[in-house]
This record gives sequence, C-alpha cells and structure tokens, in this order.
Amino acid sequence: MERVEVEALVIGAGPGGYVAGIRLGQLKVKALVVERDARPGGVCLNVGCIPSKALITAAKQYAFMRQASSIGLVADGVRLEMGRLQGWKEEIVGKLTSGVRQLLKANGCDYRTGVATFRSPHEVEVRGAGGELLVAAQHVVIATGSQPISLPHLPVDGVRVLDSTGALALREVPGSLVVIGGGYIGVEIGTLYAKLGARVTIVEATGALLPGVDPDLVGVVARRLRKLGVEVHLGTQAAGLSQQNGHTRVDLAGPGGELSVAADRVLVTVGRRPSAAGLGLERIGLEPDARGFLTVDDRQRTAVAGVYAIGDVARPPLLAHKAFKEGEVVAEVIAGRPAAFDVRAIPAVVYSDPEIATVGLTEADAERAGRTVAVGRFPFVANGRALAALEPEGFVKIVRDADSGELLGYHAVGPDVSDLLAEGTLAIELGALAQDVALTIHAHPTLAEATMEAAKASLGEAIHIQNR
Ligand code: FAD
Repeated sequence: MERVEVEALVIGAGPGGYVAGIRLGQLKVKALVVERDARPGGVCLNVGCIPSKALITAAKQYAFMRQASSIGLVADGVRLEMGRLQGWKEEIVGKLTSGVRQLLKANGCDYRTGVATFRSPHEVEVRGAGGELLVAAQHVVIATGSQPISLPHLPVDGVRVLDSTGALALREVPGSLVVIGGGYIGVEIGTLYAKLGARVTIVEATGALLPGVDPDLVGVVARRLRKLGVEVHLGTQAAGLSQQNGHTRVDLAGPGGELSVAADRVLVTVGRRPSAAGLGLERIGLEPDARGFLTVDDRQRTAVAGVYAIGDVARPPLLAHKAFKEGEVVAEVIAGRPAAFDVRAIPAVVYSDPEIATVGLTEADAERAGRTVAVGRFPFVANGRALAALEPEGFVKIVRDADSGELLGYHAVGPDVSDLLAEGTLAIELGALAQDVALTIHAHPTLAEATMEAAKASLGEAIHIQNR
C-alpha cells in the first residue's frame, strides 16, 4: 500500500473541505484533500446550491417571457427544452468543479479521489480506483457533509420517488409533482417546477411552510405559491403511495381527513442528516451526538486530539457559507493562527419567489432575549427600482435595539434580497447602529434603498413612506 505523510488531511471536498484545502495551501501547510466522488464540490456544487439556482433562474426567465406581453414584450413561441436546460446546468457545475481542482493545485494542496476510513487518529486509509493509500497526518479534518433523510414508507427509487438530487436532474417536466416537505429545498424545487408547467402540491407536516422563518416573510411567498397554482397542505403527513386507474397517487392524512393527490413524481425532502457513518470513528473513539453531528469547539476541534470537523457534519445550520467559514477557520487553527469560529450571525436565504433573506435576530427572538425592540419596515411597492423590475412584492424589515439603536436583525422578502442581505450581515458583524445604515447614502434607483428606508423607518424617519 502506498504511504504518504502530510501535515493535514481533509476528508471530503465539499464547500467545507475544499476551502480548508485551499487555505491550508495558502498557509504553506502540506495538505491533501480526499474526495470519494468523481468531482470535488460536494453537495453544493454538484447537486445542491448551484444546480438548483441554475434551474430556478431558468424557470423565472421562462415564466417572465410568457407573461411579458403585459409590458409590451411579445415573445411568441417560447418553449422549454429541458434536455438543453439540463445541459447548461451541467456546464456550470463542470466549470465550478474543475475550478475547485485548479484552485487546490494552484495553492499547492494535493487532491486524490477515494473513500477515506480511519485506522487510528493519525492514520487514514483511502481506497479508490487508483488503488489503496495510507495517509499519515498530524491533523485530520472531517468534512464529509450530510445526506437526505429518507421516509421508510416512501423510499426513494430514483424513478417515481426522488430526492433533491433526482428532482434536479429530471429530463422532462412532470405533469404532477408532489413535494413532501415544505422546508427551503421543497419550496425552491416546487416553485421552479410549477413555473416550468408542473401541477405542484407541497405537503408539510408542521403548521407552516418554511418552519423557523418569520411568518411575515413566509406569508408573501405563500401568496405567490397560490398565484402559481401550487396547492399547499399544512399539518399533513404523507402516508404512502397508491394506484388508481393506472396512475400513482400520494395518500395524505391532514386536518381535513384523508385525501390522495396525483403524482407523476414525488420529491421527498424532509431534512438532511450528518454523514459520519463508514468513517471508522469507533477506531478513534469519536462518537457523534444524538443527532449524528460531530461536536466541535470554536476552533473546530473534536474530542479527539488532532481530529477536527467542519461543515454539515459538524453542526447546524447546514449551509454552504457556514461550511466555507469553518473551512477557513480550521486551516488557520492547524497553521497555528489564533483563529476561531466567532461570528455574530449566519445569514440564510430561501430562493423562493420572491426570495427570503434573513440574518440576526427576528423580532420574536429579540423579545425572547429580553431586548427592547424597535422595528422598521419598508415595502418594495414604494421602491422605484422594484416597480421598474416588475417585482413590487415584499419588504425589508429591520429589527433594532430600541435603546442603543444596535442593528439586531435584517429580514427581507422580495426581489434579489439574497444580495441585499450582505449589507445587513456586515452591519450586524460590525455592531452597526440602525442610524449608520440610515445615514449612509444608497445609490438611486436601487433595491438597496429599501434597506436604508427600513432602517430610517425604525427611527420614524422614512422618507418614501409615511412613518407610523
Ligand atoms: P458536502 O457538500 O456534503 O460535501 C461532503 C463531501 O465529502 C462530499 O463530496 C462527499 O462525497 C465527501 N465524502 C463523504 N464521505 C467521504 C469519505 N469517507 N471519504 C471521502 N470523501 C467523502 N446551502 C447554501 O448555503 N445555499 C443554498 O442555496 C443551498 N442550496 C441547497 C440545495 C439543495 C438541493 C441541497 C441538497 C443543499 C443545499 N445547500 C445550500 C446546502 C449545502 O449544499 C451544504 O450545506 C453544503 O454542501 C455542505 O458542505 P460540506 O462541505 O459540509 O459537505
């Protein structure tokens, strides 16, 4: 068996692992990243963030083209070629994943394909098509990510019942799609297929879509889903599949009793769980917590000396940018720098229609934390750029400390709020006051003016709406 010695071995080349590898290379730490899949990039680049956003963008453009005659843009004969759309999506994924390999190389970090298993805390076996490798490493970073949770009564078969990976790879738009799970992945994929022409039903076991998100924001998305003809069943469980006249149906049990819904395809998206099984953790005495996460401290260190965990396998939230940050932190810690995962807030986006973007405390969180809260809200219907972009729905909501003015939370639903979010995140990280945002000149006409106006509204000083 070939043997290599490195200072740091990273297991998994998703957003956590590849960023750790790049940063280790930059810091001149001799490092190796090992990935079991044919391409680096993990869930995010291959079957998650990027492919979903490519299809969401295409579906948005398609829906727009079909309605643009209302503003004098008449596009006759618009049609969808799903095969070409999937091809374009794959091209983007290909560019990004090969970019990751180049960046690792350019920064002096080695990369191998193979499945890694611990032999001891400092020895890892890697089995791949190219043979077996024994890696001796002073530091080992576990960045093995997460996988979808399955439902025993609705097993994913890749044909009728799909997980998000299968749903993002469909070569034709299903006549009917039933989405089990009204979290962000279910809402994003359900919306995109509704725009591409599928009859979509979303089934959510709890009493609300997008559980955990401020209901004010969710309300705007729920209204748009209704407009798109998406049926939403809340407080409802999927019991299983049945056949009627040769057609598949999903049987549901909800507040109104039992019903069944036609389903050419079923997407099961009820959450994800950390992927630590098969790593041989028992050989190094590392035990996941009750939910399967590998507990880490603020330097990404596990209970076993020299073994670290980052990304989805380490702790929630299961988001790529949290994994990016942890990848940088772990590399700096290994390089001996005084780094720690010490952030004030982690932003989150739902690429629904319209988008939802949040960071920091919600009004309810802040009140629960004993803060005296003031809120400012500015609707996009009063923002010229949003009107000119045909996207007047939604609003920006600023939550600030009523006494000190400190910006506690930024919550928005509306056009391109995924990009507006960075201003709110930076403001919170800098400990800015709502006054700082309100006093900053924002270019006109931009959607970002809604952020400034919401900050002003929290002070009773909004210009383009009446202050309450
Ligand atoms: P992963 O991306 O899961 O990567 C782990 C890697 O480790 C994988 O490549 C795996 O093959 C490899 N691996 C596992 N075990 C071994 C082993 N034993 N040996 C070698 N290699 C191994 N997040 C966002 O922030 N924004 C979004 O818009 C977003 N959209 C999403 C959409 C969908 C449909 C899905 C499913 C997820 C989405 N996410 C999004 C979540 C995001 O993809 C994850 O949070 C992110 O990929 C986690 O990164 P990671 O590095 O921890 O793990």
